[in-house]
Amino acid sequence: MNLCDMKTIRDIMSIFHLSAKKEFGQNFLTDAAVVADIADSAEGAHTVLEIGPGLGVLTRELAVRYPTVKALEIDDKLLPVLKYTLNDMPNARVIHGDVMEADLEELLAEDFAAGGVSVCANLPYYITSPILMKLLESELPFDSITVMVQKEVALRLCAGAGGKDCGAITVAVAYRGEAELLFTVPADRFYPAPKVDSAVVRIRLYKQKPVVPRDEDTFFATVRAAFSQRRKTLVNSLMTGFSQIPKERFADFIAELGLRPDIRGEKLTVEQFAALSDLIYTEIHK
Ligand code: SAM
Repeated sequence: MNLCDMKTIRDIMSIFHLSAKKEFGQNFLTDAAVVADIADSAEGAHTVLEIGPGLGVLTRELAVRYPTVKALEIDDKLLPVLKYTLNDMPNARVIHGDVMEADLEELLAEDFAAGGVSVCANLPYYITSPILMKLLESELPFDSITVMVQKEVALRLCAGAGGKDCGAITVAVAYRGEAELLFTVPADRFYPAPKVDSAVVRIRLYKQKPVVPRDEDTFFATVRAAFSQRRKTLVNSLMTGFSQIPKERFADFIAELGLRPDIRGEKLTVEQFAALSDLIYTEIHK
């Protein structure tokens, strides 16, 4: 079955009375070489978690390469389609659900125990950052996370903390692993075609994180707060995120770290975010 072929896609949509749903970010891949390259990126995996299998084009390629594939799909209308398109792939299991609600630790418990779990997904654009933040904050021991995202988001993922284009998601990526932009994908390789080009990014997660903050929840809360008010200084952004701490304490923290009082969040490295979050944690728990 060639799920990249436009006639096959149209036939399936017609037989199952479907149309691509904008609200679920449904842009189906139609380029077999791109699908194969994304599937290859989980090299060495035992289990691959796919988020949003759609019609099953990537799921099939993953199931050919890896022993176990678990694919989480929110749209119940796609379940009978996936039953049909994955009929000859017994190692691919489709789970109906919203990735933002799913208990991934439970879903992948046996797979994590065996080791070698990676993520591969052509992500729905409307919810890219929340999904990635969930995966990165989860502390789940994925080997790698490969995602297709809008090109500008891909650049942000790979920007490195402290660099241009840096956002909360950049710091979260840099904290958990090393990101590389594998290749870009023009908009006309999807049906329907989105308005912008895309790119595929692979994040190889550290087995041992180089930076270890005292409390991870406070670390992520600090990063989120720092980027919550784009035009404000770091001190003003942090005040909004941690209203229980007086403003002058943030000025003290910034001075203690040897930073300029008017510095903005995008200038901080992962190490500086960790040090800052340690000071905030101590302040909250004194
Ligand atoms: N993997 C397919 C492909 O490459 O052609 C489809 C990719 S399409 C960009 C995104 C897929 O994610 C759709 O199938 C959509 O229904 C699904 N999806 C959207 N939001 C989701 C969510 N919150 N949880 C799980 N799946 C979701």
